[in-house]
Amino acid sequence: MAVRMCPHCKTEISAPEAAARSNDIECPKCGTRLEVASGSRTISTLAGLAAGAIVWRLSNGSTSDLGGVLPTLYAFLAFGFVSPLVLMLTANLRNAPPLLAPEPAHAPDSTGHGAGGHGGHH
Ligand SMILES: [Zn+2]
Repeated sequence: MAVRMCPHCKTEISAPEAAARSNDIECPKCGTRLEVASGSRTISTLAGLAAGAIVWRLSNGSTSDLGGVLPTLYAFLAFGFVSPLVLMLTANLRNAPPLLAPEPAHAPDSTGHGAGGHGGHH
């Protein structure tokens, strides 16, 4: 099972966040722009459609007055419920193409370029 994880700093992204903002997620730790890989979204959509079809078939057998309306309603609800749920479970994050110029802020070995090396005491 894929874990919703920032590929950059391994911070876990919460499932609701990944499902709700699958196009534009920002890592809470390092700020890397992420997105849900398209494969996961396809899977969730297919699962939602399958759930809707199953529910539609099941409820379509009932012979009530609302028999013509309810199956469609149930199928719609099933899709709306299952699809984001599956997306939460299967979401696989990847780096989104950056909108702004990428800055190499997280280079693993920045050789002492900052504090201490500057002896300019005036
Ligand atoms: Zn990150």
